[in-house]
Amino acid sequence: MKQKHQRKRPKSGEPQRITKAITHIRLLEANAGKLAALDTLAPVYLALCQHYVTLFCTAEQPNKLRDPLFHTPLSERWHRVAIMQAAGIARAFRSNRSAAYQQYQADLEQYQKRAADGTVATESKEPQWREWTLPTLREPCIQANVNVVKLETSQESSFDYWLTVSTLEKGQPIAVPVKLADYHKEQLTDAKTHQRKKLNSGVQLNKRDGVWWLTLSYDEEVQVETAPDAPVVGIDVGIAHFVTTSTGKHYGSFHKDLRARHKRDRAKRRRKAKLRACLKKKGRQKLPSTSSRTGQRLIRHVKQAINRAVNQCFTDPEHQGVQFAYEQLSVASMRFKARAQNAYLRASNLGHIPQQIRWNSQKRGVQATPVISAYSSQECSVCHYTDRKNRPDQRTFRCQVCGFEAHADHNAAVNLSRRVGDRQLRACRDRTAIKAVLMTRHEAWKQQQGMGNIRPVKRRKRGKSSASRVPA
Ligand SMILES: [Zn+2]
Repeated sequence: MKQKHQRKRPKSGEPQRITKAITHIRLLEANAGKLAALDTLAPVYLALCQHYVTLFCTAEQPNKLRDPLFHTPLSERWHRVAIMQAAGIARAFRSNRSAAYQQYQADLEQYQKRAADGTVATESKEPQWREWTLPTLREPCIQANVNVVKLETSQESSFDYWLTVSTLEKGQPIAVPVKLADYHKEQLTDAKTHQRKKLNSGVQLNKRDGVWWLTLSYDEEVQVETAPDAPVVGIDVGIAHFVTTSTGKHYGSFHKDLRARHKRDRAKRRRKAKLRACLKKKGRQKLPSTSSRTGQRLIRHVKQAINRAVNQCFTDPEHQGVQFAYEQLSVASMRFKARAQNAYLRASNLGHIPQQIRWNSQKRGVQATPVISAYSSQECSVCHYTDRKNRPDQRTFRCQVCGFEAHADHNAAVNLSRRVGDRQLRACRDRTAIKAVLMTRHEAWKQQQGMGNIRPVKRRKRGKSSASRVPA
């Protein structure tokens, strides 16, 4: 929602337009009667939108200008809004699914190549593709545009805007007063001119836990302020610490409170699943739902904790005037990271961290560059020796050659910080090529140290094929 437009990254000094959201505006309860009209509209809208989501995810390419296909009591204008929203949801679904499918094919190809060479590790299994379930719209979310809503500044002082929304009843729109909190007003006031910023005409309406919430947005131009030669701080993304920087700092963690809540939620979901299975056996028609409200809330809280952590990293006095490098997480590496940590976090939540880094860099005008993350956790930041064995456990990095020891995430962050503008790595076609480049750098380091003949401290077990042996 926050980043509606993805544009090419501008260089230092270039302005870029970003859309900022003003969230958590609660629609006033004094208007219960009016909001009831929204309550009546929401399920009809949601059902229609769902039809188009399914259509656009399966039978047709998403097209926000598509001619209406399904029958609905909603007006033509509302119908168009539903089609546009569905097209957006379907487009995101299709692109995420296709990225995951490409990753699967790459994994499979690599596996088959290894199987042919006889170099498959005994514990690794052939990658399996599990088809994605189609998006299901559960909670009412309406991305309304000028077709169906109108936002006007209020002349009365007791509230700020009138939001006029057309309803199921033709010619009977509701007018809902909107009251902003002080921090909303502050966000909306230009610091220099003290003028109220111009709001976009589209709004988002959400109903959560029985309450209607409004999201407004406005566009802002931000200048990239970072000097081209600003020092680079690398950011490693994880679960034990959401963010670890090459300056050696950690921000945020999934541990403690969140982890305990996640465990409780998982236990609850298991109990529910058992109950469902039991009732189904007995032939019960109506089964209790599997989606859990506490689960949804937990996901929201994890995202908020991530936002806080990334924010702290960007506002840290130590990080003023720097630029950032962060790992571009592929679906596979997200899966790996989530699995490595007992799947405490769903991959989608981990993906929220780079998104948040990008958003923070955009809104602050700070340069942040996504870099190749392959082997960043296995490469030694001192001598470039790259080996899975450099990681005796999840949190430790210990180089098998030079003996360098560090917190694993810190070591990875240092590697990432050096990958900005690394053309040689960017030119690599696959992970094998990347590893070869890193090992060449290790060789160069050894020559420099006059250690041409030194071998890794602990050699691998004998009997491995030459293909997997580290070049000496
Ligand atoms: Zn080393």
